[in-house]
Amino acid sequence: MSLSEPISRWVRYQQELGTDEVILDAPLVLAPPAKPAAATAAPGRREPPASQASAPARPAPPAVRSTPQPAPFAPAPPPAKPATKTVAPPPTARTPPVAPPARTAFPVFSNLSELTTHAQGCTRCVLSRRRRSVLASGGPETSPWAILTLYAWGEDAERSEVLAGDYAKHLLALATEAGLPKPAVAAIFACTPDDPADTTIQGFTEAVRCRGHWLQRLKLSQAKAVLVLDHKATQLARGPQGTVAWPAFRGERWDLEGIPAVSTHHPSRLARQAALEPDVKADLARIRQILEGKS
Ligand code: SF4
Repeated sequence: MSLSEPISRWVRYQQELGTDEVILDAPLVLAPPAKPAAATAAPGRREPPASQASAPARPAPPAVRSTPQPAPFAPAPPPAKPATKTVAPPPTARTPPVAPPARTAFPVFSNLSELTTHAQGCTRCVLSRRRRSVLASGGPETSPWAILTLYAWGEDAERSEVLAGDYAKHLLALATEAGLPKPAVAAIFACTPDDPADTTIQGFTEAVRCRGHWLQRLKLSQAKAVLVLDHKATQLARGPQGTVAWPAFRGERWDLEGIPAVSTHHPSRLARQAALEPDVKADLARIRQILEGKS
């Protein structure tokens, strides 16, 4: 390309577009002209003749030279997830219902032997499956007074009599000192729990279910007064409604199904704390007063 060609083209622009549109608008570029842009004519601007439509447009000024922009990034659509199969949950295994302990009407016992036999085969509460031994009574069959305790200890089970263990000797000696005969003995739970620390198997529910045993034991004894041992046996004998503030309640006279009752310390506690002896003596004296009709 000769040098005269761009010059002659520039001159032609001046003629076609007008001097004010071109002069000093952009430096003269001697390089091959840019490809004509798809020009949109400004309003009022003279359009080139049809014969010139394919002529190259004036060189684009660098200031407005457009840099080809990359196409806006359009993230590829995520791959279609494979259709998830809806898996039906497996049928829930049904656990066979646990048969509740049998609770038939409580029989009325005509003697202590019947009561003992019934307790040994009893399944009225959870202790029938959690018991170490079954021992429903102790002492003579009849007595003017009775003792109600929580359950038989290991020593008692060995001697087949509730409150026959060495732990109770001091209490029974104090009773003799107080002029009382040997007491009849009943237990809130005829079954001794296999785990004495597990309180979930020795609550009101079990006490109520065994009530037919211990209450009939007291009635069979013909006792006219009952000494109840410790806070827990007192609470269970009185039921959830009978609040027991301990030790304030100790020594108070209260009613146990028509029989006068007094609560005192457990003999195992008495054996460890000599300071409790005056309390126990006073409670035994109260029992005697009740039997004598003085309290
Ligand atoms: S604690 Fe009493 S009611 Fe419960 S199983 Fe033993 S004997 Fe029956």
